[in-house]
Amino acid sequence: MAMAPQREPVRAWVRRTFRSRRSLSGLSQWVIDAGIPVSFVIILTWAWAAHSIGGGWHGGWLGTYESFTLIENPSHLSTWISSTIGWLIVPALIGGVAGHVIATRISRAKDATSVNLFKRRGFLRRISLPPRISLLRKLLSDAARKDFVIIFVRDAHSNDWGKAQDHWELMVSHLMSTGEFAKFYREECHGVAQDTIILTLLTPILRGICPVCRARP
Ligand SMILES: [Zn+2]
Repeated sequence: MAMAPQREPVRAWVRRTFRSRRSLSGLSQWVIDAGIPVSFVIILTWAWAAHSIGGGWHGGWLGTYESFTLIENPSHLSTWISSTIGWLIVPALIGGVAGHVIATRISRAKDATSVNLFKRRGFLRRISLPPRISLLRKLLSDAARKDFVIIFVRDAHSNDWGKAQDHWELMVSHLMSTGEFAKFYREECHGVAQDTIILTLLTPILRGICPVCRARP
């Protein structure tokens, strides 16, 4: 068994943090995956259009606002784009999100897991970041998971800690986003998904088989 690396490279830390978002609700994941990039595109288009129109705050920024909100006719390619965004994309996104929130609220009455039923969720807990997927080397100190880590790294990945960590994160991340795990709140989702992977993988990895390695030869 090769020694576990003592430090996690920054790139691996960012990747693990990003993959951990999957323990969030579908809506929160969507905001991170699509909402933030779309907002960024809107801000860039706004700045481009304001710059093209010119005339400072009043002329540029307000002029772009007017083409976004379809008050003014677009006069430049950038204002045509902002007008299209304001006409098609923004109402579709807001309508889609509102529809989802309302539909979830309506169907949720009978859709809670027993572990979450009586839990209080304070504001800070709602806005806190989800727990990150565990580092395999940290699991080594956990008696119940130690054997899994040793077999997974040594036998299934020929002592390649980096590759084993990558494949472990991929499996946990995808499992957290499946329908069965969607009803669990962050910490439960994260913990149950990791334990499920360990339980279901023990048999195949005893034969030296990692499902991710098999899918990506
Ligand atoms: Zn693998």
